[in-house]
Amino acid sequence: MHTIIIGGGITGLSAAYYLKKYAPDVEVTLLESSHRLGGKILTERIGGFLVEGSADSFLSRKPAGMALVNELGMQIQGRIPENRATFVKRHGKLHPLPEGLTGLIPTNLDALTNSTLLSADGVERVRNERAVPPRMDDSEETIAQFITRRMGQEAYENLIEPLMGGIYGGRADLLSVDAIFAPLVALERRAGSLLKGFENRPAAPNADTPPFVSFANGMGELIGRLSTVVDAEIYLDAPVTSLEKVPTGFRVASAVGDFSADHIIATTPAYVTAQLVSPFDRTLSDLLHEIPYSSAAIVTLAFAKDDLPQPLNGYGYVIPRVEGQEVLACTWSSSKWARRAPVEQVLLRVYLGRYGIDVTAYPDEKLVAMARQEVLEGVGISAEPQLQTIHRWSNSIPQYTLGHRARIGRIQHRASQQRGLLLAGSYFDGVGIPDCIRHGEQAARKIVDGAN
Ligand SMILES: Cc1cc2nc3c(=O)[nH]c(=O)nc-3n(C[C@H](O)[C@H](O)[C@H](O)COP(=O)(O)OP(=O)(O)OC[C@H]3O[C@@H](n4cnc5c(N)ncnc54)[C@H](O)[C@@H]3O)c2cc1C
Repeated sequence: MHTIIIGGGITGLSAAYYLKKYAPDVEVTLLESSHRLGGKILTERIGGFLVEGSADSFLSRKPAGMALVNELGMQIQGRIPENRATFVKRHGKLHPLPEGLTGLIPTNLDALTNSTLLSADGVERVRNERAVPPRMDDSEETIAQFITRRMGQEAYENLIEPLMGGIYGGRADLLSVDAIFAPLVALERRAGSLLKGFENRPAAPNADTPPFVSFANGMGELIGRLSTVVDAEIYLDAPVTSLEKVPTGFRVASAVGDFSADHIIATTPAYVTAQLVSPFDRTLSDLLHEIPYSSAAIVTLAFAKDDLPQPLNGYGYVIPRVEGQEVLACTWSSSKWARRAPVEQVLLRVYLGRYGIDVTAYPDEKLVAMARQEVLEGVGISAEPQLQTIHRWSNSIPQYTLGHRARIGRIQHRASQQRGLLLAGSYFDGVGIPDCIRHGEQAARKIVDGAN
C-alpha cells in the first residue's frame, strides 16, 4: 500500500504522522512544492528576534492540536499573563477589550458597561439580547446579520466584527454564521437567546492550559518536530503537476518524478486541488473552485525600547472594518510572548489585508510605509525600525461564504466517489491549526478504516 500526500503544511504533516501511527506498514510519500515544510506556518530567527511570518499561536480548547502536541511530547508556551490586555482601535483610539468574552460573545455585561468601546445605548442593546425572539427557520444568515439581529449594530461593528476579522481576514457580511459559528446558531435555537444560553451552561473546567499556545521557538517548532518524527519519504521542491486515475489507483506526476499510489491525500488549497482533480472529475473541480480565498501580508517591525512613548502593556489591538483601513491588527509580539526580542528591543507585527483587497500585490515600500503609519497612529512610535520583514500570503485564507456547508457536503460526497482520493485542509470546516490537524488525522483514519 502506498499513499501520496500532496502538500507539506500542517495538514499534510499531520496526515503523514497519523497514517504511520495507525498503519506503520503503509508506505507514505509526501510531495511539497516549495523548498520548505510548514506551508502557512513559518517562523524565522533574524538576529535576536523570533519572527512569526503568519500564525503565532493556536487555540488549545480545540482538542486535536493539544492531542498532537502531547503525543509529540512538546512543551507549550502560553502568552505572558501580566500583559493580558487586548485593545480595539475605534475612532483612531485604543479601547480595552472588555473582560468576559465567551467565544466572541460578551457575556459579562458589567465589564461591557465599564468599557469605552460601546455607548450606553450599545450596551443596553446587548442587554436586550435576551428579549430578541429566536429565529427558527433554517435559512442561512451571514455573521453580520446574525450578530446585528441578536446584539445590535454597535456590538457587531466595534466588538465582534474586528475579532472575527482577525481570524478569517474576511467580511462578516459575506461569511456564513452556520459554517463558522454553528454552536451559536444552535444555542439561539436551544436557549432562545445567546446570553441566556451562556448563563445556563455548565462552567468550563478550570483548565491549566492557556487558551492560546505556542512554543519557545515559535510555531515553527511544531513543524520541525513533526518533520523529524514522521516516517515518510519527503520531497521538497516537488510540485505535483498532474494527477491521473489508473486502474490500480493513481499516477502522480511531479517535478521530482512520477509515482504510483493506492491513495492520495490532497492537502493543497481548494483552488490547487481543483486543478489536480479536473481531468477526472470536472464537477468536483468546479465545486472546489467556488471557494474564495483572502490574501494577507504580515509586516514585522522591531524598535529600541527607548523609542516607545509608553510601555506596550498588552497583546496588541484589532481594527474594525468600519475604521476603513486595510490594516486588520497590530500584535505586540514581544509583550505577548517571552523570548521574541532582545531585552532592549520590542517586536511588533502589523497584519494587513481584508477580503477583496490584494495587499500582496503592493510593493515592499508601500507595505512598510502602511505598517509604520499604523504603529505611529496606534502606539506613537515614529522611530526608524531596527528590523523590518514582510511575509506575503496570497490567496491564503478560505472564505466560508453563504452556502459553504452545503458546498462542502457536495465536495465530500463527490470525493467519496473517487476511490482512493482523500481531500483535507483549511477549506473544510475550520481554518485554525487544530482544525487542520484534525482534517489530516481524519484523512489518515479513513484510509486505515477502508472508508475510501
Ligand atoms: C497570515 C495568516 C495568519 C494565521 N494565523 C493563524 C493563527 O494565529 N492560528 C491558527 O490556528 N491559524 C492561523 N492561520 C491559519 C493556519 O495557519 C492555516 O489554516 C494552516 O496553516 C493551513 O495549513 P494547511 O496544511 O492546510 O495548508 P498550507 O499551509 O497551505 O499547506 C499546503 C501546502 O501545499 C503546498 N502545495 C501547493 N501546491 C502544491 C502542489 N501542486 N504540489 C505539492 N505541494 C503543493 C504548499 O506549498 C503548502 O506547503 C493563519 C493563516 C494566515 C495566512
